[in-house]
Amino acid sequence: MTITGIKKLLKTRNLRVTELRVALLEIISNLGKAVSYQEIQNSLIKFDRITLYRTLNAFIERGILHKIILEDNQNFYALCSVECTKDKHQHQHIHFQCNQCREVSCLESKEPIELDISNHLVDEIEITVSGLCQDCHN
Ligand SMILES: [Zn+2]
Ligand SMILES: [Zn+2]
Ligand SMILES: [Zn+2]
Repeated sequence: MTITGIKKLLKTRNLRVTELRVALLEIISNLGKAVSYQEIQNSLIKFDRITLYRTLNAFIERGILHKIILEDNQNFYALCSVECTKDKHQHQHIHFQCNQCREVSCLESKEPIELDISNHLVDEIEITVSGLCQDCHN
């Protein structure tokens, strides 16, 4: 995403343009994959942790990012698709984590995922697949 694109996105989600917000979205959009909290923190060392944490949460609330929580309690963040809005995340996708390099990516599903959840009140669906990513199995 270009800086102009990022500023536009912030504007459509009613967020003021700040240095941190732009820097954060730049990192995540340029990598084009899910980014771990650790990686984000290492790249944005000059900003304080609390502000960083709040910014990530604001992005999740506004449907810009989604958080991926994995078994080992590592948090990853990835960009949302355009369908996500302030009130609702429209995720119909699965996350893939590579057992070797530990990278995480979003896998779009061609068909909507259908689960028998009729008896439960579901907030969020989190499905993770693990294996070897393209780089690691070649
Ligand atoms: Zn979303
Ligand atoms: Zn890998
Ligand atoms: Zn995702």
